[in-house]
Order: sequence, then C-alpha cells, then structure tokens
Amino acid sequence: MSKQKFTGLSSVALHAAGHDNADYSHITPIYATSTFTFDTAQQGMERFAGDDKTKIYSRWGNPTFTAAEKTIEALESFNIFNADGTPLKLKALLHSSGQAAMTTLFMSNLKTGDTVLSHYSLYGGTYELFHKVLADNGIQVIIADLRDLNVVEDTIKQNKIKLIHIETPANPTIQCVDIEAVTKIAKQHNIIVSVDNTFATPYLQQPFKYGVDFVFHSTTKFLNGHGTAIGGVLLGKDLEFMKTKAWKWHVLLGGNSNPFDAFLLTNGLKTLELRMEKHCSNAMLVAKFLEQHPAIEQVNYTGLTSHPDYKTSQKQMRHPGAVMSYELKGGIEAGKKFIDKLQVCVRAISLGTLDTLVSHPASMSHMSVAKEERIKFGITDGLIRMSVGIENIEDILNDLEQALK
Ligand SMILES: *Cc1c(COP(=O)(O)O)cnc(C)c1O
Repeated sequence: MSKQKFTGLSSVALHAAGHDNADYSHITPIYATSTFTFDTAQQGMERFAGDDKTKIYSRWGNPTFTAAEKTIEALESFNIFNADGTPLKLKALLHSSGQAAMTTLFMSNLKTGDTVLSHYSLYGGTYELFHKVLADNGIQVIIADLRDLNVVEDTIKQNKIKLIHIETPANPTIQCVDIEAVTKIAKQHNIIVSVDNTFATPYLQQPFKYGVDFVFHSTTKFLNGHGTAIGGVLLGKDLEFMKTKAWKWHVLLGGNSNPFDAFLLTNGLKTLELRMEKHCSNAMLVAKFLEQHPAIEQVNYTGLTSHPDYKTSQKQMRHPGAVMSYELKGGIEAGKKFIDKLQVCVRAISLGTLDTLVSHPASMSHMSVAKEERIKFGITDGLIRMSVGIENIEDILNDLEQALK
C-alpha cells in the first residue's frame, strides 16, 4: 500500500484545501463574485476547454466551493486504496442543499422506467423525493428491509434494479444497513450503490471502503457542525462521470452553493474529529442514562446492545454517532410534556449542531409520511429524536432528569 501524507483525519481536514490563492491569504477567501475575468480570449477558451471549471462563472464553480470540495474528497477517501495500491481519488460537487445534491445524484443516474431499491425509515425529504418527484417522472422505488440480505437478494431477482440507495444510520430509528454486504450483492448484478453518510460523517464511516459508487451528505448537519448554513455534497469515484454527466446535471439544474456558506462549511470541517469525539462520547452517556430511566419505554441507539443493529454499527462505524431516538412511557402526551419542560436542550429540527437539539418526528420531520407507513418504519407517535451536543454532559443529564420528573 502506498503511504498517505497524513496519519489522521484532523490533519487532512486542516490541510486538504491548501492556500492556493493569488493574494497568499492563509484562509481561503470568500470569493463573493458571480463571474471571473479572462486576461485574453485565449485564456477564456482554455478555461472552458479545461478540467477545472472553477474560474468561469459561479454556478459552474468558485474557489471557495473548491476548498470545501477538496477537504471532503480527502476525508471520504482517506486511507482507501484501489486494487493496484494507488490512493482512491474522488470528485465532490458542492450543492445549495442536501436535497439539491440528491437531485443531481438521482437525475444524472436514473431515467423513466428505472427502479430504485431503498429501505425503511429514510430522511423525510428523501422519502418524499422518491415518492413524489421520482414517481412523477416514471421512476419506481421499492422500499424493503435491506438489513435482511435474503430480502435484498430476492428483491433484486424479482425486479430490475438500477440503483440501491442506503441511508445508514437511518433517520430517526437509527437502523443500520450493512454497506459491505449489500454492496457485494449489488455489484454481482451491476447495480449502482449510493450512501447517505449524513449521520455518520467520514470520521465515523467511509462507505467508499466497501466499493460503493456515490456518497451523499447534507453538509447542513455534522460537516458544517455549527448550524450556520444549508448545504449538500455529492461525491463519486467515477471521475469521468462526475466531471461530465453529474457536473452537467448539477450546473443545469442550478443547485450551486454560495461562497459564504461554502466558507462556513470549510471552517466547520476543520474541527470534525474533535467535535465528533465529544458528540459521540456525550451521546453514549445520554443513551445509558435514558435506558435505565424508569420513565423511558425504549431507546434507539446503536451504541446499546439492545439495538437490533448494534453489530452492524460496530462493524462499520468508529463510534455509534450522536443521534438517537426514544419513547417515553405514556406515549405522545408524556413526550409533549417532556419536550416543553426542557431548559438546556433546544427544541428544533435538524441535527449535528454544537448544542443538543430535540424534535418530534411524527409531527415535524416525518409529518408528510403516511401514518401507517410511519408506524411500519418504527416512527411511532411518541418517538422523540435527539441530536446530542457538546455541552458539559452533567448539564444535558440534569436537564433530562428534571424534564422526565
Ligand atoms: C437533512 C438531511 C437531508 C437533507 O438535507 P438538506 O441539507 O436539508 O437539504 C438528507 N438526508 C439526511 C439523512 C438528512 O439528515
């Protein structure tokens, strides 16, 4: 195996973007500009013809986007090697939101008549994109329990599947799909595999290790880490596809990022490892506290051996993450009272911010999923989702204790 420059992800996050700018600015500047100048017509022609489309027009690219893209490419490919021993190379495309990145992913890979296979308990926006936008364009989606490999095999045998989309851990029940096992089956049938790595981040889980084709993130969450911007990124290992078709769709659908949000993202990425360590160690303590609390019916967190996907999470993740869900004894009424009493934890949807966020999926993020579907996926009326922050742990536990009284 060839040796990589850095031994850990913090060094990668700090140095991958480099300092490549004409004014020797240490931090990549916010290039707040819609367009870029050419010294000569010849130079303009060369930029259009070249691989690097960043200095033409900001819908096509911008150096502030490039800094974030380079950093995320380096994080997702860290210490992964091709069969010939060369380091894996990825291409990232920064988008205005996670939904925009997902749109590029699906629109550039699928067409009318194609079938996608995915699983239970997806992010609400993904579920709706499948069942509303893709369905309206004649793309069928089959939802099955991909944690059962026999189901994966059978579904592939009975249907012509073009793409398998995995979200692991999944929102909000923290179900985990075995990326390696599903990808192995998919590749025997020439099926494209994409992974939503939003909950895990490349610090906890690197899907490209298992041969997947695309990784997608809502950078809004742990990658930005501070809750300051909406954003998304699509990464692919087929560099030609990423530079041609995926890039074309991205540019034509108009899902470009903006320089300020990209700057905030690159800054946030620098502390990914530090933040994730603290988020995850706090989350484990919160899960253990809740699990033994008499007012709690059930806790969904893959760091607990009681979670059905504990083993899968241990296999493919460095730590089980910082998002969990739980159900109070007394269901929805008890849950509402609990949420209203919180004084430190913040009532808000979203996740991956520095502070602890608490939400109620049935009435918020998953409101547009039909009730019977929701219940089937484990998103019960009383379920509470929590993204554990980096507060001093005693303050989170004290807040939960007083709210559960
Ligand atoms: C938030 C989220 C998305 C959508 O991303 P936006 O940035 O809100 O567009 C997709 N998948 C998961 C798992 C998410 O948490």
